[in-house]
Amino acid sequence: MTEERAWHLQAIGVVRSEIKERKQMPPLGAPAAIEIFPEFVPGLWRLDKHTHIWVLAWLHGAGRDLLQVVPRGVRAEEPDALHGVFAVRSPVRPNPIGLTATRIVRIEGARIEVARLDFIDGTPVVDLKPYFVSRDLIFSAANVQIGRPASRESLREALLEQALNFHGEHCPELALGVRLLEHFRWEVLAGADPDGLRVAAPWERGCLLDALMGMTRASPGRGTLSLAVGHRVRFEFKGAAYEYRLREREEHGAAAVFAAPDEALFELAISATQ
Ligand SMILES: [Zn+2]
Repeated sequence: MTEERAWHLQAIGVVRSEIKERKQMPPLGAPAAIEIFPEFVPGLWRLDKHTHIWVLAWLHGAGRDLLQVVPRGVRAEEPDALHGVFAVRSPVRPNPIGLTATRIVRIEGARIEVARLDFIDGTPVVDLKPYFVSRDLIFSAANVQIGRPASRESLREALLEQALNFHGEHCPELALGVRLLEHFRWEVLAGADPDGLRVAAPWERGCLLDALMGMTRASPGRGTLSLAVGHRVRFEFKGAAYEYRLREREEHGAAAVFAAPDEALFELAISATQ
């Protein structure tokens, strides 16, 4: 019996995006559409049972000859800069398959509009699969952070996405949660992802609590989330407590929370923990 080691793939469709070059692609992708070729359209039947899909694409422009790379956000001179391609999401790999989960905005005939896709215009799509919450959502999964966010804005964008993925609604309290963790991570921790962070937040502010859970994966059962009394959020990390006292706000929308200066939203007090 011969062992086959190469196979033939065929594109089932193509990405349509405003983003024409990889250099212009925002870290989390951009709104896009997938145009399915006519002969594969029957395969979309009942896709509307799902809110999210996995999109597998063939990243035809990517190199296939490297097994180790320096990931985005990591400086090449750092001692642990090199990573194996199977340990990162770099498009450079022996089989340049891109894999992204995204929300379906609309399905119209052969065209699927999606909320975000990090594939440029013209990228061949090789497969679609439904995102199954019962199998694909692993709430207890954890990563060691690779690299640092490039800016406070890109950190905010990443945190907002995580908060939205958990809470499902873009509301002012979610925006406040993003602002708190963004401030803590950017101003206090210089961009680091705090491994072992403990969070305390007020029970009566459910949207804020949801946002913090989505971004930190803190949970009561693991002892990393507790309920606070009063309008304050507390982060405990490496022997210090960072207490954000929340100010009363007059504004009504999430956009106003994102536009407000830090001091209009909260006041930070730092103390040592026992
Ligand atoms: Zn909400």
